[in-house]
Formats: sequence, structure tokens, C-alpha cells
Amino acid sequence: MFDRLLIANRGEIACRIIRTCRRLGIECAVVYSAHDRGARHVRLADFAYPLRGATAAETYLNATAIVAAAQRFGARAIHPGYGFLAENAAFAYTVEKAGLVFVGPAATTIEKMGSKAAAKTMMRAAGVPVVPGDDGAVQDDDHLAAAAGEIGYPILLKAAAGGGGKGMRLVEKPGEFAAALDAVRREALGAFGDDQVIIEKYLAAPRHIEVQIFGDRYGNLVHLHERDCSVQRRHQKIIEEAPAPGLDPKMRDAIHRTALAAGRAVDYVNAGTVEMIVDENSFYFMEMNTRLQVEHPVTEAVTGLDLVEWQLRIAAGEPLPLTQDEIACRGHAIEARLYAEDPVRGFLPSSGVLTMFTVPDTADGNGDLRIDSGYEAGDHIGIHFDPLLAKFIASGAERTQAIARLSGALAHTALNGPRTNLGFLQALLASPEFAAAQIRTAAIDRDLAQFLEDSAELAERAQLLALAARLARQLGSPAGNPWLAGDGWSNGGAQAITWRLALGDNEVEWRLENTAAGWRVQRAAEPSATNAHLITDMRWDGSDLAATLDGIVCRSPAVDEGGRLALTTGGRRFTVVFVDTHDIGPAADPLAGGLHSPMPGKIVAVRAAAGEQVAADQPLIVMEAMKMEITLRAPAAGTVQAVHVGAGDFVAADALLIGFAP
Ligand code: ADP
Ligand code: ADP
Ligand code: MG
Repeated sequence: MFDRLLIANRGEIACRIIRTCRRLGIECAVVYSAHDRGARHVRLADFAYPLRGATAAETYLNATAIVAAAQRFGARAIHPGYGFLAENAAFAYTVEKAGLVFVGPAATTIEKMGSKAAAKTMMRAAGVPVVPGDDGAVQDDDHLAAAAGEIGYPILLKAAAGGGGKGMRLVEKPGEFAAALDAVRREALGAFGDDQVIIEKYLAAPRHIEVQIFGDRYGNLVHLHERDCSVQRRHQKIIEEAPAPGLDPKMRDAIHRTALAAGRAVDYVNAGTVEMIVDENSFYFMEMNTRLQVEHPVTEAVTGLDLVEWQLRIAAGEPLPLTQDEIACRGHAIEARLYAEDPVRGFLPSSGVLTMFTVPDTADGNGDLRIDSGYEAGDHIGIHFDPLLAKFIASGAERTQAIARLSGALAHTALNGPRTNLGFLQALLASPEFAAAQIRTAAIDRDLAQFLEDSAELAERAQLLALAARLARQLGSPAGNPWLAGDGWSNGGAQAITWRLALGDNEVEWRLENTAAGWRVQRAAEPSATNAHLITDMRWDGSDLAATLDGIVCRSPAVDEGGRLALTTGGRRFTVVFVDTHDIGPAADPLAGGLHSPMPGKIVAVRAAAGEQVAADQPLIVMEAMKMEITLRAPAAGTVQAVHVGAGDFVAADALLIGFAP
């Protein structure tokens, strides 16, 4: 086994690889970019080598600088993690040429499977069923359009070099083909430096089922069972599980055998994943990922194996640790990906300091809960890299147990700072569709609103907490509580006051009464004994709120964001505005500040002109950022006063793009 390993990655996966190194007694080094100087992977590693620059291209994608760091460290091998250089054949060659071991398959295998086109052509030849379509041997526009017509709409256009759900477009009718082809080529060129496309028949409601395979240098190949990754948004996985629930045993067996056939076709060595798309009675090869997968922990949970250890052993020349018969799948495991992104603003990545991040204790369980995190409270979440914060993995004997544990873990997680998808994950896990294992790959995009809705109970609690925060603030004010007098409070009796607050589109008037037992509050519109609540012992230091609601102590991160109270409860984030006061301020005019760019990027198109009347949600600007096209929409109806950018401009984060007339 190697005595020294360099990890060419960051975030949770670098931290996770370090853990296995510790257990195996391998000294490990990481590399880091300028902004990552204080990052968790740098804090955990034995050694950390700085790379010059801040962007991915300058740092974690800089093969030469990474290999130089490995040589300075005296590493025997380099683990690429996932993303960045993990599927870059040229990098694997460079590592090998430098006399180091690349922890992954041979460079030639990465190359062969790197193009979806070449991979599908090869798998078809090996007798593996592939998704019907055109592998794009001829890239001429008219030829591709004709091929799409023959395949039959709807079709899916994919970047041949694509990955991570990027460079993909659903095309429903021939009339939309040309524009979609342009967009995919543009995105593919920007993200992968290659604008070749392939066309596939679009399957309407499939499942994504993938098989973990492992090969050694002695011709042995095994599978570590399957994972179901059907819970996706925009072709990106959000929740994954093992095994695939409710899969017919015959189909499962066939899927495993097909994955092994795919691996054998390329003499596969090390860890790989064969991704398949599955409908009622058939399954098809989609692509092969020649690396460790983000969701590998669910496989570890059901097999009891350490996949990084296997990768290192095989890279060091050892044979596979177990035979196929020795690899069992026990119980059920589910993983949820926690991202720094804002579900209500189209899931745009969100950055800033993670001022609070507390998760349930994983040390006292029986391994039923695992949290792989790249960050801790106090860390800065930047804009340069993938916004994955952490992965929560829960397991149990049955799927229902795993769901309950995972939901519980998310509910006991408190976050403050960047927006996250925590509430969205909870809504997904709580949905009847997920419970019935009925979510299909395109379902979330279609029914998005359903998962964004706040449950009534949580929304009620959020309002009570907001009332508690305002009570705490105002009662604690140095001048006593003069505001109460103005609201009709008299010392002699329990006269009621009313406060109006807004939560989303809902405005509610609350009636508050100071009684001997505490503050008795109820909706002014429907006063009745049954819907009254009691608030006592409220304390708020500006960031942590504690209050006793109906006898139960509730804690919540709560911050006054310039007139809006942002608080998190049950893992969901709520923004409450008091509309009757300027104290925890009134709702701001959504158009007042103008439309700003959410992150640095390039303007692709401007869809509005000065003087134009626009409707709420109307697309105004298309920009390209984080290798994706993003449409910025009007926050409300209004009139455009000035457009400050044009197509082709590069803009900084927060740059003013469009101003609106007052
Ligand atoms: P998994 O299949 O392991 O779930 P994802 O599709 O979520 O992986 O991708 C994992 C990471 O790798 C993401 O950061 C994604 O953006 C990145 N990634 C995947 N494929 C590529 C690729 N071909 N080029 C660049 N980045 C990629
Ligand atoms: P990537 O390299 O970005 O991971 P994939 O080819 O693996 O791209 O596809 C990503 C996801 O897109 C799949 O998991 C599936 O949900 C969806 N998808 C891919 N191909 C098809 C298809 N032919 N029909 C319907 N959905 C598809
Ligand atoms: Mg894929």
C-alpha cells in the first residue's frame, strides 16, 4: 500500500478520502486555491500545498501544478475524487508519466468512456442495450435535425462530453430543434471545451438505476449492487438510495449482469459506475462514470465496505478484496445532498459565510447516520466551486426507517448564512411520492411547486417564532416598552394589541394578550380558544432565538435582515416581515434596487429594453454562469428604466443589470 497520497480535490470528498487514509495509516496531502486557505480539507490533511490562483482552471484543474505538488510531497499516488480532473484522461496520462499512480482506471479507459458517443457505440457492439438515438457521427445541423425526426420527438440533445447534468436539452417538437442545438453547443463548448452532441429518444418517466462495479488488474470484476438516483432536478441527482426500491428481482439481476458486461467490454479496473435508464420493462445503458461517485456512501452503508479503501488497494496492485458471493447487500440507505442554493430563486448557488451549521451527533448512533461535510460553521462558501455543502446518509433495516432517520437528521440541522436546499430536501422526503418510491427522473421539475410549498404547521410555528422575536426585542428595549403603550396596552388590564405580519404571499393579523400565564396569541380573524397559543420565555440575541411555544422550548437561528426576519425551523427557512411597523421593517419594493447579477458571468441575451412594461416573472436577461445558462426574471410587474448591459458583457456578482422606474 502507498505510504503517501495526494488528494487533488476539495470539499466533502477530499475530507472523506482523508478519513480512509487516516484509518489505513497513509499520510495525505491536499492542494488548495487562494480562497480555500482555511477550508476544512486543508485543516484536516497532514500537508497542504497552495496552488496559485482562485478559479478552478488555475487550481484544481491545473494538472501540471498538482503533479508538481505531489512530487514535492513525495506522494506515490494521486486520488482525483470526483469532478475536476477525475475523468480527464490527459491528467491520468500526466500522472502516470510522472511515475505516480492515478487512483482510477487506465487513462485509455477514461478516454474511451469520456465521450457518450464513443461509449454508446462501443457498448452497442458489446451487446449492451443502449438508449435509442444517434451517436452524432455526423455533426451537420441538417443531418442532426433529420436524425431527430427519425428517432421521433420528444428527443434529448446531450453534449457528448457532458457530465453533471450540464449540456442537456429536451426538445419536444421539430420547430424547437435548431434553437436547442445552438444552446447545447454553446453550453458544451463553455463547460467541456467540445461542442459535439448526441441525440437520444426522450423517455418520459424513467428511473435512473446505476451499478457500482470494481475491477482489479488480474481480470476480476464484481458489482457492489445498485443505487436508485431517480430523484433529480434538471438531470442532477438530489437524493439517492440503495438498493433500488421495488425493483423486480429478475430485472435487478439482468441489470447487474449487463453492468458487468459493460465493464468487461473495456477491461475495467478500479471503481466505476454503469448508469442505466429504466422504464416499465426495459433498461438501457446511458453512460459509464470512470470514477468514485458522489453517492458512493449509500453503497458503503448497505455493503459495509469502504470504497475508497478498495480504490487504493486496487491502485496499489492488490487483487479485489472480496469475490462476488462475498458481497452482500443488507438493509437500506438513503443519501440527501445539501447544497448552498436558493430553491425559491431558481436554485441559484448562494454564497457567504456559514454563520451557523449544527448537525445531529453521529458519534452516538450505530452507524445509522453519517454526515460527509466539506464545511463547518464559520467557513465561507464561495462562488468558484460546486455548491455541495454536505451529504447526509441514513440507513436502516427497512427503507421506511432510513427515511425517518434522514428526515429527523435534517430537521435537527440548523443553518444560517447562504440559502440552502434543506427545506426542499425535507419536503421531498416527506412526499407521498417518495414514500411510495414513485418519483421518476423528470417529476420534480414538473411538480416543483409542490416541494417548495411550506407545510402549514411549520409556517404557523415560524409565525409564532417571529412574534416571539419581536416580543423579545421590544420588551428588552432599554426604554421599557413604549411601543406597547402606543398599541393600546395599559398596565391595568389585559388589553390586546394586534400585529400584522407577512409570510410569503400571506398576510396575517395576530392578536396578542399579556396574561398571567404569558403572551396569549391568536389570529385576529378567527379568535377561538382552540387556536390560541401561549408564548413565554422568549430570548433573542440577534442570531439565536429561543422561546417556549405552548410549553415546548423551541430554538431557531433568527436574523434581522434589514427589516425582514429570517428564521429557520424544522430545517426550513422562512422570511417574515411585520407590515404594521418599521421596527422589524416593512416589505421592500421588489423593484426598488433593480435587477442584479446573482453571480459573476457572461450576458448571453437581453430580452427587455428601456421604457418597456414587463410582467412579473417575465424573462429579462439570459446569462451564463457556473457553466449553466440562467434566466433572470422580473421580480414584479413594472417599467424598465434602463438596461445597463448588453449581450457578450462580463459582469461581476451583484452588478446592476436593469433599473426599474419608481
Ligand atoms: P455523480 O454521478 O457522482 O452523482 P454528478 O453528476 O453529481 O456525479 O457530478 C459530480 C461532480 O462532478 C459535480 O461537481 C459535477 O459538476 C462534476 N462533473 C461530472 N461530470 C463532469 C464532466 N464531464 N466535466 C466536468 N465536471 C463534471
Ligand atoms: P450526465 O453525464 O450529465 O450525468 P446522463 O447521460 O447520465 O448525463 O443523464 C443524466 C440524467 O438525465 C439521467 O439520470 C436521466 O435522469 C436524464 N436522462 C438522460 N438520458 C435520458 C433519456 N434518454 N430520456 C430521459 N431522461 C434522460
Ligand atoms: Mg450521468
